[in-house]
Amino acid sequence: MKITDVRAVQPVAENSPPDWRTSLGQILVAVETDVGLTGYGVGGGGLAGVHVVQTILRDLLLDSDPEPIERLWQAMYQATLPFGRKGIAIMAISGVDLALWDLRGRAAGVPVAELLGGKVGEPIPTYVTVWDEIPPELVQSHRAFKLHVENQEDVRGLLERARSVVGPDCELMIDAWMRWDLETTLQVAEQTADLDLAWIEEPLPADDFAGYARLAAKSPIPIAGGEHEFTAAGFAEIIERRLHQVLQPDVCWVGGLTELLKIYRSAREAGLRVCPHRGSEIWALHAIAAVDPQPLAESGRPWMTWVGGQPPIVDGFIRPTDRPGFGAEIDEDQLQTL
Ligand SMILES: [Mg+2]
Repeated sequence: MKITDVRAVQPVAENSPPDWRTSLGQILVAVETDVGLTGYGVGGGGLAGVHVVQTILRDLLLDSDPEPIERLWQAMYQATLPFGRKGIAIMAISGVDLALWDLRGRAAGVPVAELLGGKVGEPIPTYVTVWDEIPPELVQSHRAFKLHVENQEDVRGLLERARSVVGPDCELMIDAWMRWDLETTLQVAEQTADLDLAWIEEPLPADDFAGYARLAAKSPIPIAGGEHEFTAAGFAEIIERRLHQVLQPDVCWVGGLTELLKIYRSAREAGLRVCPHRGSEIWALHAIAAVDPQPLAESGRPWMTWVGGQPPIVDGFIRPTDRPGFGAEIDEDQLQTL
């Protein structure tokens, strides 16, 4: 099999938020082959990501065999080193890597989860993020809940009310989206230590390794992070120094499935948990189904409706479909693109 084209577009998504998630929104990558198979993946970086795919990465991959993916990943990483390593270039590589994995699944006629030695039929519990109080009618819709708390004055009060709504056995988490400092985080952790929180997410900026080291040593609650970290190499120090107890790589940004699998392996050796960012989107879901010892899938971006074939969340559980590859159904003729 030979790669005959590598294309990328930024689809327009209705109701996407008016911030970086739209201006540097998710991109669709298609890898075409001479046997008529097309693999699809999703990466990030908006039109800047599209440009990286359609120039450097396309030039590199044209006429190549799409296997082995791991070798192509290294070549893409190497080719983007002068301007890459983290951020938009790796988000672009993520989309190509996922398209190559999709192609591998489609060529073999099996879902990606099965390529990874897993099954697709098992239900995976899901969680959702809530911006304030948890509406009681939502409690049956997910198995766990995360509260966005960076602007909350009374985090303990909010969490006490949340705990009473969801009950004692439901996992509860909080996310501070890189807006707190060490002192605030430790204060909140100590004040809420008895409320059985599963984790405090991204309290500090992602590069504050010194802060995270102090936090990890002192916090009575596990610390989560990593959705804004890139590649397995980027996660290596976080894992080695145990800066986070819960790792949250985003497969569409971190370098694709190739990197997510490496992070799963290192985390398992270190005894750390992985809970991929927006893991219920099909791109991470197959890895969760196949290799995650403590599966929990975060609900996806509701505006990503241009990716067809996304299985529904039913009563707090999701199952990857048995369609080949990631099971994406993309109608390129219907896509509105930037
Ligand atoms: Mg987060």
